[in-house]
Formats: sequence, structure tokens, C-alpha cells
Amino acid sequence: MKTNTLLKKIISIIFFMTLLGSCSSGGTNSNVAPFADAGVDQVVTLKTALIPLDGRASRDDDGDDLSFRWELTSKPPGSSAVLTNISTSTPSLSVVDFAGVYSLSLIVNDGMNDSVADTAIITAVQNAKNIILLIGDGMGYEQVRAAGMYANGTAGTLPFERFLFQGSVSTSNASDELTDSAAAATAMATGFKVDNGVISQQIPGDASDLETILETAKRLGASAGLVTTTIISHATPAAFGAHEPSRNNFHEIIADYLANSQPNVLLGGAQFVDPVSAENAGYTVVEDYDSLIALNTDYENKIWGQFGETQMPYEWDGVGIFPHLSESAETALAILDNYQNGFFLMVEGGRIDHAGHVNDLQRNIFETVEFANTAKMVMNWAENRVDTLVIVTADHETGGLQIIANNGQGNFPEVTWSTLEHTDIKVPIFTWGVNAHLLKGSVENTDIYRVMRSALTGN
Ligand SMILES: [Zn+2]
Repeated sequence: MKTNTLLKKIISIIFFMTLLGSCSSGGTNSNVAPFADAGVDQVVTLKTALIPLDGRASRDDDGDDLSFRWELTSKPPGSSAVLTNISTSTPSLSVVDFAGVYSLSLIVNDGMNDSVADTAIITAVQNAKNIILLIGDGMGYEQVRAAGMYANGTAGTLPFERFLFQGSVSTSNASDELTDSAAAATAMATGFKVDNGVISQQIPGDASDLETILETAKRLGASAGLVTTTIISHATPAAFGAHEPSRNNFHEIIADYLANSQPNVLLGGAQFVDPVSAENAGYTVVEDYDSLIALNTDYENKIWGQFGETQMPYEWDGVGIFPHLSESAETALAILDNYQNGFFLMVEGGRIDHAGHVNDLQRNIFETVEFANTAKMVMNWAENRVDTLVIVTADHETGGLQIIANNGQGNFPEVTWSTLEHTDIKVPIFTWGVNAHLLKGSVENTDIYRVMRSALTGN
């Protein structure tokens, strides 16, 4: 190759690179400046169908493709994966048969030498059949620690704190401000950050409805449930099963459940609901613990627990004739697991937040302990399964709680509170099961949606 030709080639490569913008998202491993793009790294679920890859190869100054080819440079042991169309810019990876990492290198030849221009990493994960998302509303790190101290004498001892993968979640909303439960739950339910008060609509934006993970699950033939200790039309459950510009549209939220999302299981406080419209929509309605546990969970497929007249009583005050959160969640699992296509279940410890807003440590801790009991029950259910993703997290912290001293098991720790409002400090996340490793470290609340969706759909 003559020097001036090489120079022209380098210039055209620089031009092409400029067109591509930031091009090399794969880990590059080149011994020359990269001048071709292997496309973005991807997380996919196991599949035998082709995975098309969107790469771009460099061209020379006549617009012709430079000589290049793709190579599958590493794959999990035992995998039969093959790469086809290796001399085109759109190769395909087929038979992604083992979970793990597949590395694809884009190799270019300048007429004399091969060099690796770019590498794309395909991470294959298993599909999850069941997704269980437990949200402690207002449950920050200190709320978790305080509950551990009270329940077991030591922080770090709640059942979900044993999960292998743990991280912290940024909770900011669309305008990067203190979130409320509506914006935070919408982020987890849809993958979009929205304004406070918005229930799964694109606001700011065109106000269109955003499909929720619950709706995706139902569209794919799975079942779905929402369980809470607040009223069932409250912001957190609403963001999974309704689309409204305001969280205060309680009647419209209930109408959305009845007419559109139709979760198979709805359990929570009964304000704004009535048994007649629920029964007309095909639900079996129960109104207390006795009627809940009398259900034949092998045969029920649409139940609505309408408990009391407002939110559920605090654990500290005694729940009376109503079920504890763990009992509601256990019934929900017993019904949802009848479905062969799996399920999505959201369980909210909704009143941790309420106790935080009035800086009431006793009620805050008792709500968190029952939320932890619920997580323990879920773990007993999931223990020997290989098809389930369990996520325990919070939507935001409430109260600015700080522990001063641990006073041992059965005693309330000494604490301070800094506010009656929410704070913007990060909240913990604990994950177990299929794809759990994708939510470790520092994550955004929208990442929770992304991982649940990829586990459910493969995309
Ligand atoms: Zn709140």
C-alpha cells in the first residue's frame, strides 16, 4: 500500500468515525486505533433463534468496505453457539444455549495485517418465569438497620439482607428532585422517570400511557397481583396497574384496574372501592382475614381483598380482623402460581412511609419488621426454584432517620429524624434469583424495570 493511499484511508476513517460519533461501546482490544464499530453490548435471555448484531465496518475512500470479518472469540464452556454472516456488517449469533458471556470481535484487514477493531459483548441470562417485587415505601438504609436492631439485636439481620446481590438505588424523578411515590413507582413499573404525582404516563412529554411491567406480564399470558397495606388505589400499586395524570384520581385508578389492567390479585385497604363493581368485573371479593384464608387458592383466579374503609391498621396497633402483609402476600402467591406462564407480583409495605412522615419510630419499625417477614415468606416459596427473580427495595427514604445507638433486641434504638418529608438519599436494593446480578452496585430506579423486563421478555 502506497503511503498516500494509506493517508487517504486514515483520513476517510477519521471522517467515518466522526459520522459515527462515539462509536466504540464494546470493550476495545485493538492494537490500532479502532475504525469499525461492533455495535452495543447486549444483555439477552437464552434463545436458539438468531440474535442479529448491529455492527458497522469501516469503508475506504471509494466507499467500498474494507476487508473485515467477525469472530466469536469466547463463549461459555459447552456452548454450541455459532456466528453467521461473518463478512457482513450485520452478523448473527445463533444457539445462545448457556448463560454467560459471548465475545464477538470485529477484525479488519488493511491489506496486510489483521487487527481487532472492536469487540461486542453479549451477556446471556436465563428467563425468569416469576417476578416478585417488594417495595418498602419510605424504607431507607437506616429504617432497615433499625428494624434489624429491634427484631434481632443487630443491624444487617433482616431476612432479605442475606441476598447475595445488593446495591443502592438513585430515586430522583424526571426533574431530578425529591421523588414522591408516584414518580418512583412509575420509574420501577415503566422505566421512565416522570414528574411527581404522575401514574405511568409520559409527563413531561406527550402524556401517553406507559406500558407497565404488570401489563407486559399479562400481555405475555402471565398473571399479576398487587398487594399493599395502604389503600389499593394508592400511588405505588397504582403505577403498576393504572395510567393517570394525578395520583389523586383515586376513582379513575380503580376504574383502570377494573376495565384495563385487571390484576388477578388485589389486596389492600378498601377506600374508593366497592364489592359490587369488583364482582361485576369477575372478582371474588373478601373483606377480612377469615374470608381470605377460606379461599380455595387452587381454583380462584381473580380475587380482590377489600379490607376496612381506608388504609390497613399499623402493625403496632394490631391489625385486628385483617390479614398481616405476609399473609396477604402468601395468599397472592398461592393464587398466582397456578398460572403456567408465571406471574408478576408487587407487594408494598406501604405504611413504613406513613410512620416516617410523623417520625414515629415504633410504628416505622413494626411496619418494616412485617415487611421483612413478608420477604422471608417469599424466600421460603422461592427457595428451590430456578425460574424466579425476587427484588426487595424502596421507592425513597422518609424522615431522614439516623440511628444514634442500638439498645438491643426488643428495645427501640435511639434515633434522630431530620424531616417530616421524603429525602433524596439512595435506598437499598437486595436481589435474588434469575438475573439478580444485574441489579448490584449503584443503579437507577429505572434499571429495576429494565432488568425485570429483560427477565420476562428477553428484550
Ligand atoms: Zn411519603
